[in-house]
Amino acid sequence: GAVTLRKVRDYVWEMPKQGDMRVPARVFASEALLDEISDDKTLEQLRNATHLPGITKYAICMPDGHQGYGFPVGGVGAMDARDGCISPGAVGYDINCGVRMMTTNLTYDDVQGHEQELVESLFANVPSGLGGGGVFEGTVGDVDAILEDGVQWALRNDWAVPEDLEHCEDEGKRPDADPTAISQKAKDRGKNQIGSLGSGNHFLEVQRVTDVYDDEVADAFDLTEDQVVVLIHCGSRGLGHQTCNDYLRRIEKTHAGLLDSLPDRELAAAPAGSQLADEYYGAMCAAINFAWVNRQLIMHRTRQVFEQVFDRDWRDMEMHLLYDVAHNIAKKEHHQVGVDADGTVVADDGDAVEYETRELYVHRKGATRAFPAGREEVPPAYRAVGQPVIIPGSMGTGSYVLRGGERSMHETFGSTAHGAGRLMSRTQAKKEYRGGDVQTALREHDRIYVKAQSGATVAEEAPGVYKDVDEVVRVSDALGIGDRVARTFPVCNIKG
Ligand code: 5GP
Ligand code: MN
Ligand code: MN
Repeated sequence: GAVTLRKVRDYVWEMPKQGDMRVPARVFASEALLDEISDDKTLEQLRNATHLPGITKYAICMPDGHQGYGFPVGGVGAMDARDGCISPGAVGYDINCGVRMMTTNLTYDDVQGHEQELVESLFANVPSGLGGGGVFEGTVGDVDAILEDGVQWALRNDWAVPEDLEHCEDEGKRPDADPTAISQKAKDRGKNQIGSLGSGNHFLEVQRVTDVYDDEVADAFDLTEDQVVVLIHCGSRGLGHQTCNDYLRRIEKTHAGLLDSLPDRELAAAPAGSQLADEYYGAMCAAINFAWVNRQLIMHRTRQVFEQVFDRDWRDMEMHLLYDVAHNIAKKEHHQVGVDADGTVVADDGDAVEYETRELYVHRKGATRAFPAGREEVPPAYRAVGQPVIIPGSMGTGSYVLRGGERSMHETFGSTAHGAGRLMSRTQAKKEYRGGDVQTALREHDRIYVKAQSGATVAEEAPGVYKDVDEVVRVSDALGIGDRVARTFPVCNIKG
């Protein structure tokens, strides 16, 4: 049915609580982005999400929101960890899909003239596409160790250095991981994919910093104009996908009553405190570890590729991990919520008589944690300025580094956008674009070197299929949930 929104203030839109909605919903967007968000099922899905038990304050749609499996991509839902629920569809199939950025001391000048060699070498050394194979060929035993220990496994096996762990969310290891909650089938799928990009939207991009907006924070992040950086986007591959699928089927069966009360089967959820909620949480945390190791191996292999191409040691080129952020994840976190005189949580902090701390399953699906300065989860290196937030745009436009904004805890449970967000379906994209033409145009007009396993992928990921990342980031910055620090532009890009 039709969805009506009222403007709360600039960039904040509210879908009032009606019928069986447990809470209102909020969309954080400009008029232009809201128009695009309204074009598909995003707002309907957002309204459906407000039916989930224990959803706190409001269901959230970010400026890059678009429709997904049941729950919008660019969606945030914080469900009470005592009497709420956890929903695999609100995490996403690609558990801990995310991005990490590695800085270097190279400038664009150092790289110009080497782009072709660099892109070829990255493509040859970093497995991508649907085909099998990863940087590391593992056994199910290796997979078990990775699921349990995350990036500590990589450290033990010389695929990481200690500083890599310090610059990763949770130091690269989720404490609640339970490898026994991952199916044999999922482990089998994972063992040949350790250190692989996968297909489609996943990529490895060499970029140059074109703009610095905040000198002090850029300094803390070690970012300077003209510097070369590397951005890696991928997730937990077949292992995560299989895990999401396994738990959706089990939850649908075991919690059929709850499912029947929801407006969309794709929102299947396990009640907090149930055995399946705990099992899914343990499995998801293990899959998170797998994805972190995946990105770690790809990053370390990239260091080796740079060593070959530039004939220098990677330490010499100061190839350091800036940060790794997850954008498909649910985490138990403590948040302050405003309550009224009856102790009921209010949507708007302005209506609160006092604050209470609640433990919540914060689901961020196509959304990035954006914790501000001071939060203990932010690594010591960044605690004074706020965590780095990495927002990719497209292979032809540019990407951003932000820092967690002061308003994020009040407005969005400490979250912001995760990308530009799709504008067009993959099917539509293949009608609009031809991969070869897109590649040639990028090369000739913008000196961007793209190499992909398939032309169809390039068409599906053409810059025109995405919303305007500048506008998405402008909204995040204006809201104070994630503040602009620097902008980058692509140099080389490999994808599946
Ligand atoms: P998702 O995780 O939802 O697939 O995508 C994250 C975001 O990555 C997309 O919303 C899009 O803005 C961005 N993106 C997709 N392909 C590329 C690429 O090749 N390069 C860069 N820099 N960004 C991309
Ligand atoms: Mn993904
Ligand atoms: Mn992703």
